[in-house]
Amino acid sequence: MISALKLNLCECWAIGKPIQASKSTQQGASQEEKRDKLTALWTIFSFLNHSCNHNTSRYSIGNFIFIRAIKPIREGEEITTFYLPPDTKFEERQSLLLNTFGFTCQCENCEGYRQLSISEKELIAEIDDSFRLKFSNFKDHLEVYENLYAIAKQTIMQKGFYLREFSKLQVQLIIAYARSYNTNSFLEVWEEYVKRIRCPEEILEIMTYTKRLVPPFSEHEIVQKKFKELFKLHYGDEDQLLQAFA
Ligand SMILES: [Zn+2]
Repeated sequence: MISALKLNLCECWAIGKPIQASKSTQQGASQEEKRDKLTALWTIFSFLNHSCNHNTSRYSIGNFIFIRAIKPIREGEEITTFYLPPDTKFEERQSLLLNTFGFTCQCENCEGYRQLSISEKELIAEIDDSFRLKFSNFKDHLEVYENLYAIAKQTIMQKGFYLREFSKLQVQLIIAYARSYNTNSFLEVWEEYVKRIRCPEEILEIMTYTKRLVPPFSEHEIVQKKFKELFKLHYGDEDQLLQAFA
């Protein structure tokens, strides 16, 4: 009984202050994590199955969880959520889903990845390795990121499924272009990035990186404008949320 309950516990980003934080969140977590995350058991929400290509996002206000469609859902189509952060690497995702929840994911994303050629998987590994170059060396490695991105766009990205590595690469480029006030390139990658954002976590991730790595963030009008649009699209009220992260 207890293990069944644990399996259905859901971690969710909270808007405003959560009424009750989970035990694990209270211990060993930063102040920021305590403020932003809520773990609870929502009975109806527990019926939703996982897909790496899920069609809803979630967030909570107080004790309530809100589920929002993140893309058009056809009549009769299953409503799905994510059991793991969507940017978890393929191999890690499979292992966690199997060991924690007892199933192998066969969503279109996972099936798509399995069908990639060896050279395409090598390209993904190369992109993944490039992240070790760290954000602090952006300028030195911008060319590397740009080249990898250009190749990836021509090949794997055209297949249309979500890959964490591309998402991270896009974030790296967005930060680099925002830092250098390269507005045209910033907008180009931004539009490609937001097209496939799946959940608030991804917005918060890029927001956190951008605020930390693009000083002074407040002077980047175009960056601010784009974040406001994004928040409005996913949450409905951009001002309240921007204040929460001010
Ligand atoms: Zn999957």
